[in-house]
Amino acid sequence: MRAQPKGSHFVNGTWCEDSAGDAFDVIFPGTGEVIARLHDATPAVIEAAISGAQTAQRDWAALKPIERSRILMRAVALIRDRAEELALLETLDTGKPIQETRVADWPSGADALEYFAGLAPTLTGETIPLGGDFAYTIREPLGVCVGIGAWNYPSQIACWKAAPALSTGNAMVFKPSETTPLGALRLASIFIEAGMPAGLFNVVQGHGAVGAALATDSRVAKVSLTGSVPTGRRVYQAAAAGMKHVTMELGGKSPLIVFADADLDSAVGAAMLGNFYSSGQICSNGTRVFVEKPVKEAFLAKLKARTEAIVAGDPLDEATQFGPLVSAAQHEKVMGYIATAKAEGARLVTGGAAGNQGPLFVQPTVFADVTDDMTLAREEVFGPVMAVLDFETEAEAIARANGTEYGLAAGVFTGDLARGHRVIGQLQAGTCWINAYNLTPVEMPFGAVKASGLGRENSRAAVEHYTQIKAVYVGTGPLDCPY
Ligand code: NDP
Repeated sequence: MRAQPKGSHFVNGTWCEDSAGDAFDVIFPGTGEVIARLHDATPAVIEAAISGAQTAQRDWAALKPIERSRILMRAVALIRDRAEELALLETLDTGKPIQETRVADWPSGADALEYFAGLAPTLTGETIPLGGDFAYTIREPLGVCVGIGAWNYPSQIACWKAAPALSTGNAMVFKPSETTPLGALRLASIFIEAGMPAGLFNVVQGHGAVGAALATDSRVAKVSLTGSVPTGRRVYQAAAAGMKHVTMELGGKSPLIVFADADLDSAVGAAMLGNFYSSGQICSNGTRVFVEKPVKEAFLAKLKARTEAIVAGDPLDEATQFGPLVSAAQHEKVMGYIATAKAEGARLVTGGAAGNQGPLFVQPTVFADVTDDMTLAREEVFGPVMAVLDFETEAEAIARANGTEYGLAAGVFTGDLARGHRVIGQLQAGTCWINAYNLTPVEMPFGAVKASGLGRENSRAAVEHYTQIKAVYVGTGPLDCPY
């Protein structure tokens, strides 16, 4: 098995195995070949991971921030040195084309580690003058944080959670999706090579039950989940019972609004990136593309031609632009949504069938004349299926774009920047783009409103979600007391 790690878990600085846990196979989605066999974490593994993290965190928090930074920076250098090997591992784990994993996944993770390593020594509290007396604040870590990941960007998700957590003095126990468990394990071993003390970043494998055990443990101060809205509701509820902090990065059905005055080629490119990159398995995708009526047919003609030229194939081939879906379950789900869209009367512009490059491929698919009540306009597909809707007025586009329980992302394409800002200002979404789409640099906050989640990842904003403020009042004179 060509990607078998030395153990299913990485706990307290070392690979670890407990074959009493249920076994599961990891496949390369490009072919369906089994590349590793791992085991769910048993209660003993979970206990070792949480208690080890708790012990390690106390000493880690006591270090000078710049000492923590130095270790994280060494991890960044190791990740960059091994870029090709890590890209290959990510492609085997997820099935995403190697041309994507070379530029998007680990590189974005390394950026996050570098950003928060640089930020940590600059974080300070404040002093508050109180007329002789004064108060000051200390920004403290939360303690042991749990990270739970989805399968679409497994290594990036692990880094995006680990970076702000570790740099600010927390420990993390991370559970990847069992569909893509390999990248987080590699990250844990790289941290140890970089000199990080054992136990600060422990990885345990398993299905939802393992995630639930972590999220409900009384020693855990925070849970950060990337996953679907139903899972988010469950985990948020469990965390609330223990009064834990949460960050929820959940699903979406984001609008991408294209006005008639937009640069149409750029808008078509954005719609394709926002529906077909990673075979459409991206939470912030602009899966409801609203196109102003006068340019609708021109937009669709360009979109069809460019979509039909996409090169699908072996993810390990450098020429491949489009790979398979991650699993048979996801393939079946996406094919079901395509069938429903056809049955509900959406117009198939291109695609609409399984791909012939391997068992898990779906053709890049575009439906036009989609209406707001169709399933395709309401539910997250998480596959390469674009819904094109048309509109007549700005106010109509805004109202319909907001007509969903989701609120992750939104985009506007227009030649009129004043309109771009005006429209974005009225859209209910946490992460927005004007004349761009799906760019998520670490300097910019990433997160959602409404049912798509709460809290923010990346940027200085993430620091708020991994630290808490202690306020200290200092009396400088005799105490005034009426008794
Ligand atoms: P799921 O919600 O099915 O799972 C997410 C993670 O939670 C998995 O590791 C899962 O384990 C775990 N889990 C499931 N049940 C529980 C539980 N009761 N307690 C604790 N953990 C649990 O999502 P997918 O993995 O299918 O990922 C796709 C979803 O993720 C989409 O909805 C997508 O939009 C969203 N997503 C959001 C992003 C964002 O940043 N907003 C980014 C990427 C994806 P297991 O897999 O074993 O069930």
